[in-house]
Amino acid sequence: MTQMLIKAPDDLLALGAQWQSRDKPLRKGGAGPTDHAALKFSDHTLMVPLLSKEANDSPYRIEYYDDDRRQAVIFKEEQRLGNVIVPSRPKFYDLTTADGVPYWKIAALHSHNVLATTVLQNCIRYENKSTSCQFCAIGESLKQKTTIARKKPEQLAEVAEAAVRLDQVEHMVMTTGTPKGDDRGVKVLAECAQAIKSKVNLPIQAQCEPPSSNDWITLLHESGADSIGMHLEAVTQSVREKIMPGKAQVTVDQYFDAFRHAVKVFGRGQVSTYILAGLGDTEQDIVNMSEKLAKEGVYPFIVPFVPLQNTPLAQHPAPSGEMMKRIYQGVSSILKQHQLSTDDIKAGCAKCGACSALKSHE
Ligand code: SF4
Repeated sequence: MTQMLIKAPDDLLALGAQWQSRDKPLRKGGAGPTDHAALKFSDHTLMVPLLSKEANDSPYRIEYYDDDRRQAVIFKEEQRLGNVIVPSRPKFYDLTTADGVPYWKIAALHSHNVLATTVLQNCIRYENKSTSCQFCAIGESLKQKTTIARKKPEQLAEVAEAAVRLDQVEHMVMTTGTPKGDDRGVKVLAECAQAIKSKVNLPIQAQCEPPSSNDWITLLHESGADSIGMHLEAVTQSVREKIMPGKAQVTVDQYFDAFRHAVKVFGRGQVSTYILAGLGDTEQDIVNMSEKLAKEGVYPFIVPFVPLQNTPLAQHPAPSGEMMKRIYQGVSSILKQHQLSTDDIKAGCAKCGACSALKSHE
């Protein structure tokens, strides 16, 4: 059977899939696409949710196809759709730093070619329910001891070099929990970007909240970051306050001030923002905000909200595939009009596109 071609995977990414065996190829806990499996379709790799409520009831079902656990077959209800490849364990996961930390605790492979890390695995907002982002699982992987609290610049440089050499990683995402201090984590991200770039030529996206001064954004660029993500997550103030009461104190206007400066420094299209659809913003709210962002040269990376285990939103419904399709169609024509494309982005989530079907609508 040929490998499956999936044209517009709106449904699969929103609903997830049931996995029919105990040994799921799953990443659990942490920031980013957790409770998902990376699956390679013939045209691209997708991060498919496997543990959400919707995934348990999903019409999609996946089963291993061979004894090596490298190929799987995907069904929608009783219809056999085709094969997907389960990426093998990256070779760099078998290495350990000189001070005894396994590389897989320092950075993870996302999709099939992205190295991803959360530099600071703590956040000033996380421990307190009145400030934490309700969708966030940043503390989970620390609890499960599958990561370390703070990644040192030299550790990241060592892992990045190995991931490029052994696993042909093509770009890197560095995110961070927000620490105390008005740089909002930029200082540590800049130190890490500099250390990585001194060891290996790997395009890097740094992700953070808007810092208090735009000079921090300039510093991040000067330190070697190629693109930057500052994530709105939700777009209307009432939803922001409900879902992420702490982060909502940073106003949308502050985000736009930081976006404008970042576009000057990094260039049009090298600045992006993550928007989670399904948290309460209407389709029109998301499309309108995307237009405002695109006009400024900021790429709106729209992702379906996936409820994660052990978070306050674990029982919150995911958006439907139909809703995602309408949003993607609206946003893709805006992207075209403003000549923004994932192909031009040097590094980061929008370039990767495994968590969203927007790329396939572009
Ligand atoms: S889109 Fe971002 S978070 Fe999702 S797999 Fe790619 S790099 Fe990771």
